[in-house]
Amino acid sequence: MVCSDPQHIDLHIHSNASDGSLSPREILNQALQLGLAAVSITDHDTVAGSVAAIEGGIPSGLAFLTGIEISAAPPAGYSARGSFHILGYGIELRSPQLNKTLDVLQQARSNRNPQIIARLRDMGIPISLEAVQAEFGGEGQLGRPHIAQLMVQEGWVASFNEAFDRFLGAGKPAYVDKHRVPCADALAIIRLAGGLPVLAHPGLLKINRGVAFETMLDSLQEMGMRGLEVYYPEHSPELIGYYADCAARRGLLKTGGTDFHGTLKPGVGMGFGRGDFFVPVALYEALARCLPLSASPR
Ligand code: AMP
Ligand code: ZN
Ligand code: FE
Ligand code: FE
Repeated sequence: MVCSDPQHIDLHIHSNASDGSLSPREILNQALQLGLAAVSITDHDTVAGSVAAIEGGIPSGLAFLTGIEISAAPPAGYSARGSFHILGYGIELRSPQLNKTLDVLQQARSNRNPQIIARLRDMGIPISLEAVQAEFGGEGQLGRPHIAQLMVQEGWVASFNEAFDRFLGAGKPAYVDKHRVPCADALAIIRLAGGLPVLAHPGLLKINRGVAFETMLDSLQEMGMRGLEVYYPEHSPELIGYYADCAARRGLLKTGGTDFHGTLKPGVGMGFGRGDFFVPVALYEALARCLPLSASPR
């Protein structure tokens, strides 16, 4: 699909450096073909995708923001339920503090995958880590979407979503919790890398609106958070309006993206998500005006 209006962006994209199916180059090419104005590669726990995108050269006519998505522990008293993620934009990719934390997360991930596989094997689903690595490459950050895809390919489940619904999703029998960086640390390392920390997909949180949610936003802002991912395919137009208002009342930047994973998240297209969803370019322009951020929180 080619968009008739070029002024759309996608600031939440996963490459094959984590659990997306496209390489950074393929992402940039597709973004260009779609006529997107700006993109960011926001891989889980690795900046390798952003590094490769920049090393390969950003096509003219497309704006690119370096990015990251960090699995964090929420502020004390708030429930995480698997999707408390902090996005970072405009980060210096060689930041030592950032890379040190990412090393810890990557190590934790490589300890977690065999545990997930062991649980599946205990349930009579004999897939192997070697098979996951052989299918999806040994270098990127492997995670549950790769395991889910292999389960489909080997016929253990009929669909990717069934793999999560029955086995891999939070609270399901093969679920193993992720190592999480305390949110204050995740925000601080993004700030130290000159980046802009943003709360990802608030609609996926257990507490996603109301007083408790807004108190949590206030705590995060106190810790240095600068933006809210207002536009996200799973947010209804009404919820987008609510989050836009939450951001405006606090002077937080609004961001948005699809969480595109290519074939590893069926049904979500780059720049478009589902239906008539899109993210306006004005959000990118406001963000870019704030970068680079000073390292000091507020
Ligand atoms: P991991 O990093 O291994 O915890 O995997 C996280 C990724 O799994 C997310 O970015 C989503 O793409 C995907 N995911 C998590 N929960 C679900 C779910 N219930 N259904 C489908 N995909 C999911
Ligand atoms: Zn992912
Ligand atoms: Fe996320
Ligand atoms: Fe994501």
